[in-house]
Amino acid sequence: MTETSPWWQGKAVAPKLRRDLSALPPYRAGARPTAAPGIDRVYSLASNESPVPPLPAARRAFADAVETANRYPDPASRKLITALAKHLAVPEQGITVGTGSVALCQQAVAAAAGPGDEVVFAWRSFEAYPIITGVAGARSVPVPLTAQARHDLPAMATAVGERTRVVFLCSPNNPTGPLLRQAEVDTFLDSIRDDVLVVIDEAYFEYVTDPTAVNGVATAQQRGNVIALRTFSKAYGLAGLRVGYAVGPPALLDCMRQVALPFGVPSPAQAAAAASLGSARDLAERVDATIAERVRVATRLRDLGYDVPDTSGNFVWLPLGERAQAFAQACQAVGVTVRAFGGEGVRVSVAEPEANDRVLGVASQMAGTFGAGA
Ligand code: PMP
Repeated sequence: MTETSPWWQGKAVAPKLRRDLSALPPYRAGARPTAAPGIDRVYSLASNESPVPPLPAARRAFADAVETANRYPDPASRKLITALAKHLAVPEQGITVGTGSVALCQQAVAAAAGPGDEVVFAWRSFEAYPIITGVAGARSVPVPLTAQARHDLPAMATAVGERTRVVFLCSPNNPTGPLLRQAEVDTFLDSIRDDVLVVIDEAYFEYVTDPTAVNGVATAQQRGNVIALRTFSKAYGLAGLRVGYAVGPPALLDCMRQVALPFGVPSPAQAAAAASLGSARDLAERVDATIAERVRVATRLRDLGYDVPDTSGNFVWLPLGERAQAFAQACQAVGVTVRAFGGEGVRVSVAEPEANDRVLGVASQMAGTFGAGA
């Protein structure tokens, strides 16, 4: 197609679009690594993905399900929900499945908030929250993280006003790493109105080892205004298949289904996710390997003088401020993409030891430039 192709130049008219569209922040996906001269292998540590392919059982189930891909998927994802109900020990009516947990974030906001309403979240946190809020026509109320890169729950409780319809709690917090504790979440929930929908986003739940951590699924079963979101994109290694799930009060989940796109989770994705749940031992091995690397990477970075906050996900945060971009570029030069948030810091996913070592090499070289306490 050439630039003079008439199909889009035909008439000098354009449909009227939403006036607030240009005000929406864009979603920036992590960059993909590109081959660099003299570098044999490149690594992506920019999107908190699993570095290993899906579990063997998931790949087999996916291939089998493709055989019937001429048919629409089960819109209710019944087999997957049955498997999840068993896995979580939660009644089936308390679970719904979506096109990744990001779609469930969107459904939660779409069901609860519209123009004139407010959505409260910590900031910096998952970058989809302000976008989803803006798409719904609602107003974002970002509440700054503490100096330890944690949610400031008392400040968030204060930020909940008359117009607040949704609060996002992200544990562990992407991109900074710290988790929320059950006790502080309970206190928070007790201190806000119980007609505000609280979404506990636990995309990295499988990597959490701290026994004091919030358990969104358990919390959602005890309250009428809480849902928990989890995903197959991270620990289960199915980011490309787009499957997430929500646990919460059945009536709330019904409202979320009402605003979902129909047939949002393809049948091979449903099948692969369900099969993954049957591979607990394989999954645990992978998760344990990532946790061991997380500890190694965070410890080494701290030894080098970097101020790495606690992390319970499959990533570490380097609060490098203005030096974030330079650090990301230095990683790129050794064949590793990481995620720089300009002026704030760099998020580095924990991946294969070789990839992690390259980042540690850069960190070691730059520790001199940045000085201790970087
Ligand atoms: N929540 C958080 C905190 C995330 O970091 C992500 C992915 N980066 C998601 C939700 C969405 O994940 P998915 O849609 O792949 O399930």
